[in-house]
Amino acid sequence: MKYISTRGNAPAIGFEDVLLAGLAPDGGLYVPEEYPQFSPDSMRQMRSLTYAELAAEVMAPFTEGCLDKKDLLDIAVQAYGGFSHTAVAPLKQISDSLWVMELFYGPTLAFKDYALQVVGRMFDKVLKRTNKRITIVGATSGDTGSAAIESCKGCDHLDIFILHPHNRVSEVQRRQMTTTIAPNVFNIALEGTFDDCQSIVKALFSDEDFRTRHNLSAVNSINWARIMAQIVYYFRAALALGAPDREVSFAVPTGNFGNIFAGYVAKRMGLPIKKLILGSNENDILPRFLETGVMEKRAVKPSISPSMDIQVSSNFERLLFEMLDRDAAAVSHLMETFKYEKSYGVDTEVLKKIKNIFEGVRCTDEETKIEIGKIYKAAGEIVDPHSAIGFVAAEKFGETGLPCIVLATAHPAKFPVPVRTATGITPSLPARLSDLMTRRENFTVLPNTQDAIKYFIDTAEKRI
Ligand SMILES: *Cc1c(COP(=O)(O)O)cnc(C)c1O
Repeated sequence: MKYISTRGNAPAIGFEDVLLAGLAPDGGLYVPEEYPQFSPDSMRQMRSLTYAELAAEVMAPFTEGCLDKKDLLDIAVQAYGGFSHTAVAPLKQISDSLWVMELFYGPTLAFKDYALQVVGRMFDKVLKRTNKRITIVGATSGDTGSAAIESCKGCDHLDIFILHPHNRVSEVQRRQMTTTIAPNVFNIALEGTFDDCQSIVKALFSDEDFRTRHNLSAVNSINWARIMAQIVYYFRAALALGAPDREVSFAVPTGNFGNIFAGYVAKRMGLPIKKLILGSNENDILPRFLETGVMEKRAVKPSISPSMDIQVSSNFERLLFEMLDRDAAAVSHLMETFKYEKSYGVDTEVLKKIKNIFEGVRCTDEETKIEIGKIYKAAGEIVDPHSAIGFVAAEKFGETGLPCIVLATAHPAKFPVPVRTATGITPSLPARLSDLMTRRENFTVLPNTQDAIKYFIDTAEKRI
């Protein structure tokens, strides 16, 4: 399997290079040259597999030439063996046609573990084989950092540096990153905002000398391997509810468009998905786009669903590439326009194509809290604010008689304050994290300059 860039100015490369590169050198995102297809019969046979077996089956065509089915099964068994629910991704029925798939049984209690636990092990395997060493650098506003650290902490062939904005992430989120004490894990608290963290990381990647000196790599949500691992639970849920012989829809709380794009790929692979319904908070760039055909960036507004406080949904570029019939020049043009004018538009035909599959719902903090209370009253389920937005989306666009599956993206204990306000109940952390608030932390506060970060990484790597 070869991968090409959405901007069309980078050579086609195999899975191993895609895994290690993250972003394409022309600024685009990698997508497979073509989507593998599963026949209805082969899908029916997948119904009896364990989660790890299904993961190997679904991912194998994408990793061809790098990791075979046996490699993938080994990785998946290890990755999901540590999850705290035997079903890995349990599916619960809420009402006649409404279901929820809980994706928070990994080590950091958010859905990002489902991909990153696999991707970290892929890095390790590939690097061991080639005896390469890489440095992962990333910025986080909360959940990605801890999931990435958890997935990389044991790897001998890489170091990981995660920048978070000092005093601007929740205490639970910070502690989930900073209490992982491992020689290859470095937490940097930057004296700035999340945007500052991200722009420093971007600057490091565009510093040719620094990038090659450290063999920089990224695990942010534009890495194809993460999308690939997320396709698995769409198959899992749909097969359990009757696919390929019955259509289903999904409702997905969305920020960077990574999770929901995996659903689109599943559909392209043959899974009968009717609608992909995206939920957003007041950072509603995607629902506005679906209404108007104009993607217009506005200032980020903090919300009670902070992992979706995003105004640039990076992975949307992959959908755009498909909807423009893989016209890379057109994608490049729109992305340049967005960069300089903070907005771009698509014509009505393209918008119509997108709306054939996608719906979008916007949700205020107030509506989110009301929804958390409502689900608790009606079904006895306590959901986190991100997942609650998925429920709102499902209720608005789910169709009667057609199963709609909400992807619950975080454990409620990760966001206890709004959950308590809405239900009167303080969700408790699972037993294995119960001492989180008293564990020893390790992080370094650094000034908001590129030089300070470069110096820290240079000298840290000399020490190990
Ligand atoms: C990251 C995250 C999201 C958004 O996922 P995207 O792939 O960026 O759309 C939603 N909910 C939670 C809890 C998250 O951590």
